[in-house]
Amino acid sequence: MFQHVEAFAGDAIVALNEAFHRDTRPHKVNLSIGIYCDEQGQVPAQHAVCEAEQYLAETRQPKPYLPMEGSTSFRNAMQELLFGAGHEVLAQGRVATVQTVGSSGALKAGAEFICQWFPSSAVWLSDPTWDNHHSLFESAGLSVHSYPYYGADGGLRFDAMLETLRALPRHSVVLLHACCHNPTGVDLTPAQWQLLIPVLQQKALIPFLDLAYQGFGDGLEEDAYAVRALAQSGMCFLLANTLSKSMGVYAERCGALSVVCADAAQAERVLGQLKSTVRQSYFSPPAHGSRVVARVLEDPQLRASWECDLTAMRERIRSLRHQLHAALTRRSPERDFGYLLTQRGMFSYTNFTVQQVRSLRETYAIYLVNSGRMCISGLRADNVERVADAMAAVSVG
Ligand code: PMP
Repeated sequence: MFQHVEAFAGDAIVALNEAFHRDTRPHKVNLSIGIYCDEQGQVPAQHAVCEAEQYLAETRQPKPYLPMEGSTSFRNAMQELLFGAGHEVLAQGRVATVQTVGSSGALKAGAEFICQWFPSSAVWLSDPTWDNHHSLFESAGLSVHSYPYYGADGGLRFDAMLETLRALPRHSVVLLHACCHNPTGVDLTPAQWQLLIPVLQQKALIPFLDLAYQGFGDGLEEDAYAVRALAQSGMCFLLANTLSKSMGVYAERCGALSVVCADAAQAERVLGQLKSTVRQSYFSPPAHGSRVVARVLEDPQLRASWECDLTAMRERIRSLRHQLHAALTRRSPERDFGYLLTQRGMFSYTNFTVQQVRSLRETYAIYLVNSGRMCISGLRADNVERVADAMAAVSVG
């Protein structure tokens, strides 16, 4: 019956992570998957999340289906986190938000929405981007292309990016990482967003923001700059976000898709269509994670505790960037490792070739993604020097 079913090639990063866990070398270092690990190499269980879970266990919440659009308190909490409490787009009822199964679910729901209501629109992704962006949009039936983004000098090809976007047909969808670009760590500055937005507007393009790392760059408010600048411009746009990384609730699948519309009546209709998409797919989202997230964000003490943990994560990543930069500069003073300091968030792009990445893995038990992407949070005070030794060695070899 199923003879014709083809094998699934798998997800390269997940496969690499599994290979890391099978590796028996005690000094191995995992700089591959985009999961925040602490100095002990563990995914931290945040105090606020544990407290919220305990509260939920004690208050024994019943478990009927959530509405198709998800929990109201979770959706409101997401909107405030993204736009800031009382933002005019919220006050005017112009944002349609649905709770989704992680931001992967948000991207997919957004892709299906685009496919149905803008069937001739293609999607443009940064070159490079998170691998799964390609599958999520292609599998929804959209054609996917790339715009220039990362330059070999470790910076942004901003002029080339703008030139490509200026030439796109009306209603092309432009996927933009709102902060902490995955995989390069290269972001637009606020001034560059201010130059980009008029181009999007004049060409009637549809921005689709992906905000997976809010709080990992400069702070919760600062990292929402692109969201608020687009909202301020009066444009309509889509926005996928997730708490997977910032609250360490990867397995709970807590994401949202928000669509900013021209007015409240449009938002109402768009929300209806998003509910219809959910109904055709999984009917209603899971409750537990959304209750945990809403509790953390609504309770002032838990929220403060979460923000404190998030700040510590951000500062630790920054400190690791400086430590690795210093260690590499000591070994190769003639080379410029400034990219480690200017790139933001959990990832940096090393420009290592596939051969160098393989050599790091096979010879030194240091795991990077084949593209040369390094997850900075896998570094620790006690492995930075060894990683720098290995990086210097494969650079020479
Ligand atoms: N967007 C980007 C840029 C990501 O890096 C990720 C996770 N790696 C996601 C979306 C998906 O996140 P989630 O776990 O919430 O599905």
